[in-house]
Amino acid sequence: MDHTIAEVVVVGGGPAGLTAAIALAGAGVETAVVAMPAAAHDNRTTALLASSVTALETLRVWDRCADQAAPLKRMRLVDDTARLLRAPEVCFDAAEIGLPAFAYNIENRHLLAALESRSRDIPALRLIAAKAERLEVGDADVAVSLDDGGRLPARLVVGADGRRSLCRTAAGIETESRSYPQTALTFNLTHARPHGDTSTEFHTASGPFTLVPLPGQRSSLVFVVTPEDVPRLTALPDAELAAEIERRSHSIVGKIGIEPGRGVFPLAVEIARCFGRSRVVLIGEAAHVMPPIGAQGLNLGLRDAATIAELVIAARQDGGDVGSNELTARFEHMRRADVTSRSLAVDLLNRSLLSDFLPLQGARGLGLYLLDRIGPLRRAVMREGVAPAASQPRLMRGEAL
Ligand SMILES: Cc1cc2nc3c(=O)[nH]c(=O)nc-3n(C[C@H](O)[C@H](O)[C@H](O)COP(=O)(O)OP(=O)(O)OC[C@H]3O[C@@H](n4cnc5c(N)ncnc54)[C@H](O)[C@@H]3O)c2cc1C
Repeated sequence: MDHTIAEVVVVGGGPAGLTAAIALAGAGVETAVVAMPAAAHDNRTTALLASSVTALETLRVWDRCADQAAPLKRMRLVDDTARLLRAPEVCFDAAEIGLPAFAYNIENRHLLAALESRSRDIPALRLIAAKAERLEVGDADVAVSLDDGGRLPARLVVGADGRRSLCRTAAGIETESRSYPQTALTFNLTHARPHGDTSTEFHTASGPFTLVPLPGQRSSLVFVVTPEDVPRLTALPDAELAAEIERRSHSIVGKIGIEPGRGVFPLAVEIARCFGRSRVVLIGEAAHVMPPIGAQGLNLGLRDAATIAELVIAARQDGGDVGSNELTARFEHMRRADVTSRSLAVDLLNRSLLSDFLPLQGARGLGLYLLDRIGPLRRAVMREGVAPAASQPRLMRGEAL
């Protein structure tokens, strides 16, 4: 059974897919989202950079979840490696570059609820609860077959279907991947003392241990460990795990309580060799999976979403084909440098922590020392981190599409 034609079908109702759909349909593009119900409880939180928050404000999503987000006004980096060459402690303050906060940390479930609620308000957006099973790419259109027997023809498919993307495989796009000898454990915590809107990242020899503020006396923790440590830590009863976390965090937020829900994410990078081909573009984790270091993943995904919406709306205004090879090639061109540079930065930071190679440790220490001491350099790095100069789609600048 063919559903009526949507100009664009978004496969995947995660944060990247819903953001793209809201941006497209909000500008009048007939858009369908094929969204499979979430398989498992997701306790992840996302630190959304100020530019991502601007985009969500512009899309009228942020007002539906802002009260569930905590500002990150300061970021503290602490070398906890006990190595010979240790870096000095560095603290970045958003006020130094005139911002109220670098980022806002929110539980994914609240962000998704706000995106879903906004999606339901837009007449040009149709949410279809189904699983996409197949893509058929033709010269003039592309059709998505669903597990309920439905079929959705469109001019363009936006593959926002996560790390095991069907759209990516269907478009014949391969990935380059690399795994690290590390696993991220995620927990949400309550604590006795306030976090002071400060995110604290302890750099340890197995990777970062990062406390990120949530509203109230709560924080999320991304705790990167070696795979050998995973069975022991995940099997600990709450009270013993809380004591271990308090010890590793040097009691900076006092006594810890563990909230229900524990996440385990083996660290890997996986990047599609091409972000768009044959009426299919890839966004979010379908295009790039990053380790949860430096809060890059979804911020990149939202820039993908804003970029594809911008390109489709411009092509439509010019009377062009929104699934043309020119458009998919332009998307690839506009997103590649941003994704490559962010993945390299995350890789370098992570490797400098893992490496026992003294010159590399020295270089990391020197870099942080210079950031601590040289105000203009520190401010330039902070500005680039919050709003990368080379890749700001219009939504990130607060311009409606
Ligand atoms: C521990 C951890 C911490 C993180 N912290 C941060 C952070 O602080 N800041 C940041 O920017 N990023 C962070 N990230 C990354 C961020 O969580 C991801 O980039 C983001 O969740 C990916 O969103 P997405 O919409 O691309 O994919 P997903 O959230 O995976 O959504 C994909 C959706 O597609 C659906 N789907 C899949 N296949 C089909 C199909 N065939 N048919 C229909 N639907 C389908 C799935 O059910 C799912 O709903 C973190 C990641 C981890 C692991």
